[in-house]
Amino acid sequence: MYHRVADIPVDPWGLAVQPVRFEKQITRLKHSRRVVHLHELLDLERSRTPSEKPLAAVTFDDGYHDVYLNARPILQRLDCPMTLFVTTEIIGTAREFWWDALARVLLETEYLPDSLTLHVGGKDCHWRVPPFSNLQGRDRVFREIWGALRVLPHQAQRQLLTKIGIWSSCDLSAREMHRAMTAQEVRNISDDLITIGAHTLTHPTLPAHSADIQLREIADSRRACEEITGTAVRAFAYPFGDHSDVTVRAVREAGFDLACTVDARSVGHNPAPLTLPRIYVGNWEADEFQMRIEDPSL
Ligand SMILES: [Zn+2]
Repeated sequence: MYHRVADIPVDPWGLAVQPVRFEKQITRLKHSRRVVHLHELLDLERSRTPSEKPLAAVTFDDGYHDVYLNARPILQRLDCPMTLFVTTEIIGTAREFWWDALARVLLETEYLPDSLTLHVGGKDCHWRVPPFSNLQGRDRVFREIWGALRVLPHQAQRQLLTKIGIWSSCDLSAREMHRAMTAQEVRNISDDLITIGAHTLTHPTLPAHSADIQLREIADSRRACEEITGTAVRAFAYPFGDHSDVTVRAVREAGFDLACTVDARSVGHNPAPLTLPRIYVGNWEADEFQMRIEDPSL
């Protein structure tokens, strides 16, 4: 499970792998595994004999532009299939994902007012904001506000982000380095090697919302992906990996065959297709990468 391939200076969740390292990782993966499309994985695993190479599938979540720019040429050069799960409402907008905008304010902006009050979930929350020299303190505030925003409806997230932008005097329009793909880029990247999957409309924490909202987020993102690519979309990834029984039912009702969580395990022999585990990949050298995919419990 990847998210981004880029050199970025501030990356609080470790979402980015540097292009050189990504190339080394995929080279190593191709050497030790037979890398197949996600939609082939379960059938091929059933028919695989023990003497054959173990299988692997590569996925990317969210739909960052740097995947188009940096990951795609490497995947093409190494002939490595991949599934890209796209958050559809942010495609082609001038906004960044809310967590990047929040990191921009709290972790990348030197001068900020020393206190922040936000009305979150019906109550006023106050934060003391440490100076930039206290990065640990800034990071703590960042994670607290991130946690408060994560479960809110998308409109509320956007309103609070606008407030934080005004409070900080930060321009929160999308930076080229952090933007999502355009619809044209999603269309271009979708080919025999790269398959598009859905990742909701707005990247909510699905179980925090009603069954109706969950179904709309899931089913409408599938329709949006199909409209962009002109092909059937069969796979889904749960934002933040979060899912409840209601979420899984909605994914089934929306017509998906496969859905990915972030449970850090190998897929194994008899997996549940709508709760497939995945292994997070960090900005690791090839040896560490190899070690961690062999033993995800590390
Ligand atoms: Zn995501």
